[in-house]
Amino acid sequence: MDFLRPTTWEEALAAKADRPDALPLQGGTDVMVEINFGVRRPPALLDLTRVAELRAWSVTGGVYRVGAGVPYATVIEELGGALPGLAQASRTVGSPQIRNRGTVGGNLGAASPAGDSHPPLLAAGAVVEVESRERGVRLIPAEEFYLGVKRSALLPDELIRAVRVPGAAGPQYFSKVGTRNAMVIAVCSFAVALHPREGRVGTGIGSAAPTPLRAPEAEEFLRAELDWAAPLDPALLRRFGELCAAAATPIDDVRGTAAYRRHAVGVLARRTLTWAWDDHLGRRAA
Ligand SMILES: Cc1cc2nc3c(=O)[nH]c(=O)nc-3n(C[C@H](O)[C@H](O)[C@H](O)COP(=O)(O)OP(=O)(O)OC[C@H]3O[C@@H](n4cnc5c(N)ncnc54)[C@H](O)[C@@H]3O)c2cc1C
Repeated sequence: MDFLRPTTWEEALAAKADRPDALPLQGGTDVMVEINFGVRRPPALLDLTRVAELRAWSVTGGVYRVGAGVPYATVIEELGGALPGLAQASRTVGSPQIRNRGTVGGNLGAASPAGDSHPPLLAAGAVVEVESRERGVRLIPAEEFYLGVKRSALLPDELIRAVRVPGAAGPQYFSKVGTRNAMVIAVCSFAVALHPREGRVGTGIGSAAPTPLRAPEAEEFLRAELDWAAPLDPALLRRFGELCAAAATPIDDVRGTAAYRRHAVGVLARRTLTWAWDDHLGRRAA
């Protein structure tokens, strides 16, 4: 197995263009497990850990550009105020060791339907920035990035450069059901992001369909029915939960049945919207 070690982004793009069969390696918390267990044996590894710019984040015009190599620990420590949904999800990932090594870029690269960063990225309206040497930068809205189980819109000669996430304009919440409280792959998960200025609520569902996905009908329903100055109507909350559950297309597997997952998505949707709405009304009253 060849081991490619670029030190700049340009070198990394050149290496991927010349060797599209090289498997990118960031934190290695997915890749090394797969190699150790013999799940895959790539002809080459493209180690991105020396590309310093991937580990940086910046903000321009209220949009946060989080480098593909920024670990969860940094998201938690430095971006909790600006990107609360992503930071909450990051806190639930693995253990401190995994959060120190594992990255949002790696979560996107793996494109597992159970990846914890996906629901808050969908709810916030994030855009994935990918790049190739031949065609330059491509911006892919998160909802178009996930194509199937562990399949994404990334092309063989492309690398993920960053993810662009609008700074939170309102409360955001993430919640996850697992078989225990830590070190657990989600049985299902849900994220909500309020966008009060646009009169809109964003959603993201994890681990309850072949890909992470939004619940567009539930979002449309809230856009039409919500009174942003009033307490949440219980009937509206119930309908929101039903529409989110209906958006899921879960399967039975070792972690849970399809019926349980669909039910849990509805519960998480109601729960996270209630938390977010309490915050929203609290901020209006302050
Ligand atoms: C013990 C344990 C617990 C875990 N718990 C959780 C959990 O609770 N929630 C969760 O979501 N995940 C969990 N994971 C999975 C893993 O930690 C996450 O998916 C993490 O985000 C992967 O990031 P990484 O940087 O380690 O990626 P890597 O393993 O380096 O890469 C993952 C994938 O992304 C690709 N990739 C990486 N960087 C790029 C790039 N710049 N461009 C293109 N492709 C790229 C790789 O080729 C690979 O396919 C766990 C893993 C372990 C071992």
